[in-house]
Amino acid sequence: MLLNELNIKQAHQGLIEKKFSALELFEACRKKIEDANSKINAFLLKTYESGEAAAKEIDKKIKANENIGLLAGIPVVIKDNILVQGIVTTAASQILENYIASYDATVITKLKQEGYVMMGKTNMDEFAMGGSTENSSFQKTYNPHDLERVPGGSSGGSAAALSSNMCLYALGSDTGGSIRQPAAFCGVVGLKPTYGTVSRHGLIAMGSSLDQIGPFSKTVSDSKIIFQAIKGKDSHDSTSLDFPERLNAVNKKNKLTIGIPKEYFIDGMDPTVDKTIRNAIQEFEKLGYNIKKINLPHTEYALAVYYIIVAAEVSANMSRYDGIRYGYSKRSDANGKSLGFNDIYCQSREIGLGSEVKRRIMLGTYILSAGYYDAFYLKAQKVRSLLKQDFDKAFETVDCILTPTCPTVAFKIGEKINDPLTMYLSDIFTVAVNIVGLPAMSMPCGFIDVDNKKLPVGLQLIGPQFGETILFEIGSHYETQHDSK
Ligand code: GLN
Repeated sequence: MLLNELNIKQAHQGLIEKKFSALELFEACRKKIEDANSKINAFLLKTYESGEAAAKEIDKKIKANENIGLLAGIPVVIKDNILVQGIVTTAASQILENYIASYDATVITKLKQEGYVMMGKTNMDEFAMGGSTENSSFQKTYNPHDLERVPGGSSGGSAAALSSNMCLYALGSDTGGSIRQPAAFCGVVGLKPTYGTVSRHGLIAMGSSLDQIGPFSKTVSDSKIIFQAIKGKDSHDSTSLDFPERLNAVNKKNKLTIGIPKEYFIDGMDPTVDKTIRNAIQEFEKLGYNIKKINLPHTEYALAVYYIIVAAEVSANMSRYDGIRYGYSKRSDANGKSLGFNDIYCQSREIGLGSEVKRRIMLGTYILSAGYYDAFYLKAQKVRSLLKQDFDKAFETVDCILTPTCPTVAFKIGEKINDPLTMYLSDIFTVAVNIVGLPAMSMPCGFIDVDNKKLPVGLQLIGPQFGETILFEIGSHYETQHDSK
C-alpha cells in the first residue's frame, strides 16, 4: 500500500513506530497530486513549501521521541473558504481572487497546534453556493470515480482530493449538504457537526445560521479524530458551544434503535440508490439494531425553507463585498475616468460575482424586503420550528435516523448547471439537518454500475443535538462489518 493511501490511524501508527517519516508521507501525497491533479483539478492553490516544512518539524519531534498527537504530520487539504493566514483565500470567487487572509480560522489554529501538514486549498462552488463545484469562478473539478461526472459540491475539491488519495483528510463546510453530498458522490465519509460545536470564526460566511465546518475522512474513526481536534467553544464565535461528551452510546444500551423516515424514500429517487440504501438498512438490522419506521411530516417543506433562509442570509453576508473593503475593485471606466462610489460598488460586484451568487442576492433581497418579509422569511422561520419539532419527537423513540444522502449518484458535468431548480433538488435529503442544527454524517454503503463505472452511494446518519458520538459508534460498527465482506 502506498503511504498516501493510508488512513489517519494507520499513518499515525506508522509514524510513531518510525516505519516511515512525515516527510515521506508528505512526498507520497505530493507525488499523487502531481500525477493525478491535472485530471481531477481539485486544487486552487498548492502549499507544498509550508507543508514540507511542517512535516520536517514533526519528524524532528519523532526523532527526539516526543509524544505526537494523532493528526501530527498527517497531510490535509482545506476548502478555500477557510482562512489560512498569509495565504490567498478566494472562496472560488473572482471578487476575492487576490485576497490574502490576515488571520487563521479557529479550526486552522487548532490544526496547526496538532502539527498539520497542509497540501493546499481546494476548489468549491463560489462562496459555497452550489452542489457540483461547477460554480467555481476558476475551474471545474472532476469526480475521481468517473471524470465525466461532478464530485458534488460545494466542497467538491476537498472530497475529490481525498477520494483520490492526494491527502489523508480534508476540511469542508456544510450549509445545506456541502460536505455530505460530495462525500457521497466521491465515496468518502463526511460529517456536518451539530451547529455551534465547531467555530465558524474564519469561515467565509454564506448562511450564518446554517454554516458548519466539518471533516472529510476515509473512515468513520478518522472523522472522530478530526472532530475531536476542531470542536470547542471559541470566544471569536458567539454561536459556538462546548461539546458535552457523552458516554459510549453502544455500550450504554443493549440495542440501539435506528429510525427510517418514510419521507426520505420518495418517487423520483434513483431506484438503484433506493435499493442500495434498503440493503444497508438490512445490514444494520443484521448487526443487531432495532429498525423503526418513523415520520418527519414537515420534510416536504425543508427545501423551500432552506432556499428562503439561505438566500436571505446570503444577501446580507454578501453586502461586505463592495469593491471598497475587500478584493476586486473597479475604480475607473474604459477611458481611465475615476468612478463614483455607486459605480465602484455596482461594477465591482457586477464583474466580481458569479451568476448563482447574484441570483441569491436578488432572491434574498426580495425575500427580506418590506411587504415580503412576513410572507416568506417569517413563514420560513415558523416552518423551521415545525421541522425542529419533527426531529425532537422522532428522537424520543430512536437513537439515530438513517436516510439516503442524495437521491442520485454523481451526475454528469453540465447536466444540471443550467437548471438551478434541478440542482437545488440534489439537496433534498441534506438541508433539513442544517435548518434544525443537528449533526449528520454521510458514509459509503455500496457502489452502482453506471456506464461501466462504479459510482459510490452514501447513506446519511442523523443524530440528536450533540449526538456525534452516536454517529461515530454506529457508523464505525457498520463500516467494519460492511468492509470485511
Ligand atoms: N447545495 C446547497 C446550496 O447550494 C448547499 C451548499 C452548502 O452546503 N454550502 O445552497
